[in-house]
Amino acid sequence: MRIIPRSAWGAQHPNGCGLAPLPATEVWLHHSVTAPTISMRELEEIGHRRFGCGISYTWVVYPDGRICEGHSIGRQGTHTAGRNDRGRAVCLVGNYDLDRPTEAQIDAVAWLLRHAHAQGWITAPRLSGGHRDVYPTACPGHWAYQAIPEINHRATEADDMFTDDDRRRLAELHEWWQHGIDGIRHAGDRYLKLVRIEQQLAAVPPVDPRAVADALRPDLTAVVREVLGTDNADQADAIVDKLAERLGRTGVQQ
Ligand SMILES: [Zn+2]
Repeated sequence: MRIIPRSAWGAQHPNGCGLAPLPATEVWLHHSVTAPTISMRELEEIGHRRFGCGISYTWVVYPDGRICEGHSIGRQGTHTAGRNDRGRAVCLVGNYDLDRPTEAQIDAVAWLLRHAHAQGWITAPRLSGGHRDVYPTACPGHWAYQAIPEINHRATEADDMFTDDDRRRLAELHEWWQHGIDGIRHAGDRYLKLVRIEQQLAAVPPVDPRAVADALRPDLTAVVREVLGTDNADQADAIVDKLAERLGRTGVQQ
């Protein structure tokens, strides 16, 4: 799946109302209460006429599962009064008091939440709720509101995040890391520091292994230098280079 960018659907109006901090701590579900076939340009016109800041929503999801970028992720939308700074919004195109969200739409929103979380745009891969939870409105409609638990369930099913190939690479990475730790287990309490690094590694989604390797490098350097002693700093650095290179190579490719 992918997010169709503003440039592809031809955004004409301002990109939201100023900056909004990242990552967002809330994500709210809306519906457009329009024909399900309305274009992004038309949705943009509606939002712009009402609030003057271009399209109101962060993301727009069509019944066929197409996901479009609304305002940019770091900009403030005009979707959820009082929460547009910390919150972002997913808008389902259609009227979900009348229709049920399609399977393709539910899957698309779940994918979008996982993707946004992996990118560091939102603090958790889930919807905070529907517009009606924080404002006196029927939005996002009865059937879309009913679908929120299922969307959140699919969004947090870790197994859906990776292909078999991803999982194989991840297992390989972990096995290699374990091997590296076993190799310097004799280093006593310093081993505990490596365990902590390993736990950090396990907690990072395997999105960008090169970045993970870079982030772990200072810790790794400190530990290896400590283990080998200050007389062997060059040797320690060489080991860290090898470890970081291996980590970057073995990781999951995007
Ligand atoms: Zn709404």
